[in-house]
Formats: sequence, C-alpha cells, structure tokens
Amino acid sequence: MSETLTFALTKGRILEETLPLLKAAGIEPLEDISKSRKLVFETDQPGVRLLILRGSDVPTYVQFGAADMGISGKDTLMENGADGLYEPLDLNIARCRLMTAGIKGVPRKSGRLRVATKYVNIAKQYYATQGRQTDMIKLYGAMELAPIMHLADEIVDIVDTGNTLRANGLEARELIADISSRLIVNKASMKMKHARIQGVIDAIAEAVANPA
Ligand code: AMP
Repeated sequence: MSETLTFALTKGRILEETLPLLKAAGIEPLEDISKSRKLVFETDQPGVRLLILRGSDVPTYVQFGAADMGISGKDTLMENGADGLYEPLDLNIARCRLMTAGIKGVPRKSGRLRVATKYVNIAKQYYATQGRQTDMIKLYGAMELAPIMHLADEIVDIVDTGNTLRANGLEARELIADISSRLIVNKASMKMKHARIQGVIDAIAEAVANPA
C-alpha cells in the first residue's frame, strides 16, 4: 500500500489559489470542495487526502502530525508560533500586509495605546520594539469598528486594497509585515515520508516559479 499523505487546507479565497498549485503537483480532489460541506476529501492520488480547516487550525494539525503538510498564512504562523514544523516554501499567494491603523486624520496619541486585534502576540511584540506601551484587546472580527467606537486607539489587521479601512474612516499607519501563504510540513513527517513529501514540495515550487 502506498504511504498516506494528509494535506491541511483552508476554504475560501486561499483555496481558490491553492488548488491550481496542487493540480500542478499532480494532486486533484475527486469532488468539488467548494460545493461540499465535507471536511475530508480523497484525491486522484491513492493515499493522499485533503482536510478543510479553519485557517488558524492548519498549523495546529501540522504541528501535532494530524496532517503531514498544510498551507497557512504567514500571519497565522507568526501569531501562533511554528514549533514542530518546517516552512519550506513561500507560495506567493494571498499576499497582503499586516498593518497598524487608526482613525483618519487623527494623530497617534502619546503614552499608552489601546490596541484591538486578533493578532495579540504579533502586535504586543511590534509595539514593544517601537518602545510603545500598549494594552491589548483581543477581538475575533470587525476590528475596524474598535477605534470608531472608542474601544481602542489603534488596530492591527490585514490590509489588502485598503477598502475596508477606508469604508470605516480609518487609515493604515505602519507596516508590520508582508504576508503570503506558506507551505508547512510536520518535522517528523518530513523524515518518515521524505521522498514523497520532497516530491510534492518540488512540484509545487516549480508551479510557483512558473505560473500557468
Ligand atoms: P481590503 O479591504 O482589500 O484591504 O481587505 C481587508 C480585509 O480582507 C481584511 O480585514 C482581511 O480580513 C481580509 N483579507 C484580505 N486579504 C487577505 C488575505 N490575504 N488573507 C486573509 N485575509 C485577508
């Protein structure tokens, strides 16, 4: 029997950009993932299956070896840490920026800042390197509302076009990091299933370097 390989992915916009890369690596799901509520999908390669997870859970599955490989945003990897996994490839997809933002035209206040974000660890570290003292407020969504409602002075969030910030009267301030999706691999899997996994990494690297 051939070795199994479990690949952890996220639904949504990242999946749309991921499937062509997997296809180029010879891995195609047997059914349309976007039209199904299933969470596990077989592929045309025997023993290779895809898991569909919440983005922030992908590194967890890979770290614990419940999945051998996965695709995760650099923002999630930075926030949650990357113990137990390798990050062999920048896929150059789902590119965006992690930025601080505040109310348009209002100068940043001096002294202690209240910062609302779902990226509490990244934000704490970033402001500390700037020598700023902060109180972090953890939110799970709609960060843009926090400054307007006086919950926070600034937010730390993902910015792509900047439309979401503009629509809510905010402006981007400082760039914390450029973000894109990364291929991640469980360290033990990399040893135990080396040839198979290296084959997939090489094929995806080739697809990234030479987009169709
Ligand atoms: P935009 O209005 O284009 O600046 O998009 C900002 C919002 O879209 C953010 O609040 C994010 O929630 C989401 N977003 C945009 N790009 C990405 C990405 N590459 N990964 C995750 N979320 C994103």
